[in-house]
Amino acid sequence: MNIHEYQAKQLLKAYGAPVSDGRIVLRAEEAKTAAGEIDGPIWVVKAQIHAGGRGKGSFKEPEAGPKGGVRICKSVEEAAEETQKMLGRTLVTAQTGEAGKQVNRVYIEDGSDIEKEFYLSLLVDRQTARVSFVVSTEGGMDIEEVAASTPEKILSFSVDPASGLSSFHGRKVAFELGLTGQAFKQCVKLVDNLYRLFIEKDLEMLEINPLILTTDGNVKCLDCKMGFDGNAMYRHQDIMSLRDETEEDPKELAASKFDLNYIALDGEIGCMVNGAGLAMATMDIIKLYGSEPANFLDVGGGATKEKVTEAFKIITSDPQVKGILVNIFGGIMRCDVIAEGVLVAVKEVGLQVPLVVRLEGTNVELGKKIINESGLAVIAADNLADAAEKIVKAVKG
Ligand code: ADP
Ligand code: MG
Repeated sequence: MNIHEYQAKQLLKAYGAPVSDGRIVLRAEEAKTAAGEIDGPIWVVKAQIHAGGRGKGSFKEPEAGPKGGVRICKSVEEAAEETQKMLGRTLVTAQTGEAGKQVNRVYIEDGSDIEKEFYLSLLVDRQTARVSFVVSTEGGMDIEEVAASTPEKILSFSVDPASGLSSFHGRKVAFELGLTGQAFKQCVKLVDNLYRLFIEKDLEMLEINPLILTTDGNVKCLDCKMGFDGNAMYRHQDIMSLRDETEEDPKELAASKFDLNYIALDGEIGCMVNGAGLAMATMDIIKLYGSEPANFLDVGGGATKEKVTEAFKIITSDPQVKGILVNIFGGIMRCDVIAEGVLVAVKEVGLQVPLVVRLEGTNVELGKKIINESGLAVIAADNLADAAEKIVKAVKG
């Protein structure tokens, strides 16, 4: 789960990390009051979307909008104007994809005098199974370019969970960034606070880009991205309340409401499968037969008819789906329940694309009977390979 920059900064502040004063604006008429509450003389207006690269992003036509999703302003009036221009518009950045994201919230922040921009992030490194730090003096808007062309400018190390973080880690980061004096001490403390936040709130990723050194020698977090471990959110109601559902894929959102494990993908064959392993195998075999899956979907072991119906609706709501493959092994799950769910869903949403059903396991005969007697144009399959071959053929012709 991701949150907005302004929310992440509130968390940083609560953990003692230095951030700028700022106000969030949801409605255009609030912009001037919000900007007026910030000292100046520079105001920075920042579009809040769950994607980076806003500074270099651009707004979609028709009207000419601000140049990019981060605007430096010299007066309260200008800040209010830029805010009003951003609200409701669609911002396209390197991370949003072509469709872009609608800006529903704008953050107005006190401007900082920047001496240097650094990069600092923490993430769960699956290879070492530890929390890793990634540090670079080359922070700002081109970190991807730095990683690609001058990887030697990036320092990375992991923290042993048994011994935990110690001040030597903080000193390592501060040395790498070439800090001295009070900024050095601030950096050591920052590293400690960030690690504590990361562990206590079950983060997956925390990125500060840029972390800056101000012209008066202080360290500050100027941008922040946080990603949380969705499976741990049940124990962080405070974080859950920061969820912005308008930022999520509507299909994934609907799936999460019904406790379905669903991830939208780019392909053309919608899959409804029970069990994560079988779902992965199904996706693999679709690729093997020359097509691409439109989603990962595990309806789970004990899915009800309602859940199956919902899953089917989510799959068919995707305009990219050119065919559907239902692949169920009935262990705990019964094949007749699946068959009924599919029928209910098809009656509700109609079936515009070919459907291949492969059922195996508990009550398989009953399941097949329900499907065969339904009068639907369903293609029956006997095994995994047969099912994949049939659906790819039906889609590709
Ligand atoms: P993004 O990474 O989405 O482009 P950032 O928040 O990193 O957005 O902003 C882009 C750039 O804008 C920063 O690298 C920094 O140079 C400048 N910037 C952002 N916030 C401020 C601020 N409060 N004061 C001065 N400059 C800022
Ligand atoms: Mg940034």
